[in-house]
Amino acid sequence: MIRPESISFDDASSRDGRFDWKVMRLDLIDPVISGNKPFKLSEYISSAKNSGHRGMVTFGGAWSNHIHATAYATRLAGMKSIGIIRGERPAILSPTLSDAEQAGMELRFISRTDYKDLRDLRDESLEEAFPGYTLVPEGGAGKPGMRGAAGIMEYIPSAAFDWIVCACGTGTTLAGLISAAKVGQQFLGISVLKGHTGLKSDINDMLKYTTEYAHFEVIDRFHGGGYAKYDDELINYMNDFHDRTGIPTDIIYTGKLMRAIDMLCQEGVFPPDVRVLAIHSGGLQGNRSLSHGRLHFS
Ligand SMILES: *Cc1c(COP(=O)(O)O)cnc(C)c1O
Repeated sequence: MIRPESISFDDASSRDGRFDWKVMRLDLIDPVISGNKPFKLSEYISSAKNSGHRGMVTFGGAWSNHIHATAYATRLAGMKSIGIIRGERPAILSPTLSDAEQAGMELRFISRTDYKDLRDLRDESLEEAFPGYTLVPEGGAGKPGMRGAAGIMEYIPSAAFDWIVCACGTGTTLAGLISAAKVGQQFLGISVLKGHTGLKSDINDMLKYTTEYAHFEVIDRFHGGGYAKYDDELINYMNDFHDRTGIPTDIIYTGKLMRAIDMLCQEGVFPPDVRVLAIHSGGLQGNRSLSHGRLHFS
């Protein structure tokens, strides 16, 4: 699932060509289960196995990278999976959910209110509802997700980068990176959620009891209108970025991440010789929600 030999560090540059950074291509690690998700799921899967559970149950929407990855990762591990999906079952499943179902995931559609109630239930009550299943929070969040994501750092050469930048949903991936920081590294999270003012403290909570961790900042002004919102300007940026670098990005996380780095360059936030690494956390499967042809790639 994680093939380290397939991870490359590719060159990227700002629109004006004045600043260069590197991109860690986690989108390339596997044709199906790529990005940050296999890392975030790794500890959930090993603990499910260790507890003798027969499967995992988790939550998500119609285009969820997490649902997609969980369906494949559990199948690979020889386990069952149940996906609790927000909303009614549509006449035609999204490609994401159709893939998940084909990978053997049992999809259960529930109303948006019930979804919220269920998602926010305490673990004990959920465990009673799904005996023999390991519960994985929405997005693979939480401490096991963080410890899994820390594994990404093993593939980043120490002392090669000064700033490591990634897109944040729950901040679990960033917390994992920070928890495994090496001397001199600083971290920056680009939030893709609008008004998620608690992100920094969520990350600090996850990092609690981690003995020593690095300096980090989160920036929440690059969400581009909010979670999963996109406009022509973003699509143009992504097409442009691909033309310049050959790197495809996704509309929800990594397109906004690269655009944010570009804007920070314009603002002069990074000193000229600072070595910036952007984590490409995958998510390309979600681009299938766009009408055909809007992106020059995918
Ligand atoms: C899930 C996901 C993220 C967000 O990860 P968090 O750990 O929740 O911050 C970022 N990028 C992509 C492509 C994702 O699928």
